[in-house]
Amino acid sequence: MCGVIGVSKIPEAGRLAYLGLYALQHRGQESAGIVAVDREGQARVHRGMGLVSETFPEPVMKHLTGDVAVGHTRYSTAGSTVLANAQPCFANTRYGALSVAHNGNLTNAPELRRQLVDQGAIFTSSSDTECLVHLIARSSAPTMEGQIREALSQAEGAYSLVIGCGREIYAVVDPRGFRPLMLARLGDGVIVASETCAFDLMGATLIRELQPGEFVRIVEGQIEALAPLPRRPITRCVFELVYFSRPDSTIFGRSVDAVRREIGRHLAVEHPVPGAEVVFAVPDSSNAMALGFSEVSGIKLEYGLIRNHYVGRTFINPTQALRVAKVKIKFNPVREVIKGRSVVMVDDSLVRGTTSKGLVQMVRAAGAREVHLRLGSPPITGPCHYGIDTPTREELIGATHSVEEIREFLGVDSLGYLSLDGMLDAAGRGTGFCHACFSGQYPTPITEELVQLRHAAPLAATLV
Ligand code: AMP
Repeated sequence: MCGVIGVSKIPEAGRLAYLGLYALQHRGQESAGIVAVDREGQARVHRGMGLVSETFPEPVMKHLTGDVAVGHTRYSTAGSTVLANAQPCFANTRYGALSVAHNGNLTNAPELRRQLVDQGAIFTSSSDTECLVHLIARSSAPTMEGQIREALSQAEGAYSLVIGCGREIYAVVDPRGFRPLMLARLGDGVIVASETCAFDLMGATLIRELQPGEFVRIVEGQIEALAPLPRRPITRCVFELVYFSRPDSTIFGRSVDAVRREIGRHLAVEHPVPGAEVVFAVPDSSNAMALGFSEVSGIKLEYGLIRNHYVGRTFINPTQALRVAKVKIKFNPVREVIKGRSVVMVDDSLVRGTTSKGLVQMVRAAGAREVHLRLGSPPITGPCHYGIDTPTREELIGATHSVEEIREFLGVDSLGYLSLDGMLDAAGRGTGFCHACFSGQYPTPITEELVQLRHAAPLAATLV
């Protein structure tokens, strides 16, 4: 998963992109990059590993001059965790500096890459996004718009893209609309970003959300609508609302906070816990769910777990051993809230089960009499191929174990997963959703090669 940003005709665009990326940090903590373009069309790029605040020290920011910028914050889903895969991808082309910031995953990237390599293309990264750079640069269409369109006609899967070409910015969302992309205005300029929370920090005003298949060109602060991409069934990623996006954002036309509260309400109806004395969230993604659960059940909401905010998302650790240790670094129970009580703990999802298992042990050690776990989504039974970093099927506890087996493994008194229907109801029935990781219904073809290649690093030479 990733966060993308584009800034057109705003002084110090590089610094503004930095602010925007800061607000989008939750979408990717592995690497970040900004391309800034000055009045003469000269582009300057900086990309680095780590958090946004670590990647752009003042001496670097000083070079990112100009009033146009493209930025990216990365969380690896395709390609390995190396600097070469940091984005925006960039290249010097016949139209000037081309930079591509991609949120999503191309499901036909292995085939595209093979074809391009066979034709003599050279790759510097293992990310699927670099295929797009090649396809755009190789297109013989007479305009940049045409080149992008031709490249995208060959791409399958999920892409919300911010593409810089000289001083122009193109923003486009794949026809299924897996990932969000928003437009806003600031003074005479325009900003495009993955989530609205970025605009709040930048002081920009939301114009609207880009719809599935929508394609726009932003030149000197003016937005020009281009012909949309061919229509496909809309499959917005429901997990964006359940877990990924920030609750203070509005995406897919819905307040993320409102959806999560509704999920909590549905959970309380589907899986009540008679006799429980306190409900609390696994902070922060589930806070609103616990609130909704409390509202409907009448069980008092408390802060039973405290999260250390200086620790990244647990998944970002590469090894299982580290991940287990990090649960304790990240959370600590509040004994006074928990001791001697029957508690309901609400989390958004269960992936491998390691976080919850550690939490349950902590809560029991803090003196809980009973522990009831409620999850704001159904069992995850398959990996995501559209940009969320879920592990392989074998590692997904929901794919390999029954609910009763999982309950036993976690050591909880009861376990309740929200049903697929309940989750989709809460997310808003009017929107078409992708729920492949829960239902196994993948909206695009998924080849065995894609399944195998997800975390492979097929590069013979890498930057360090
Ligand atoms: P696990 O320990 O593998 O069961 O992880 C479950 C926890 O990870 C839950 O608290 C979720 O909020 C969180 N989570 C779910 N999906 C992801 C993801 N793709 N990346 C990072 N964290 C996630």
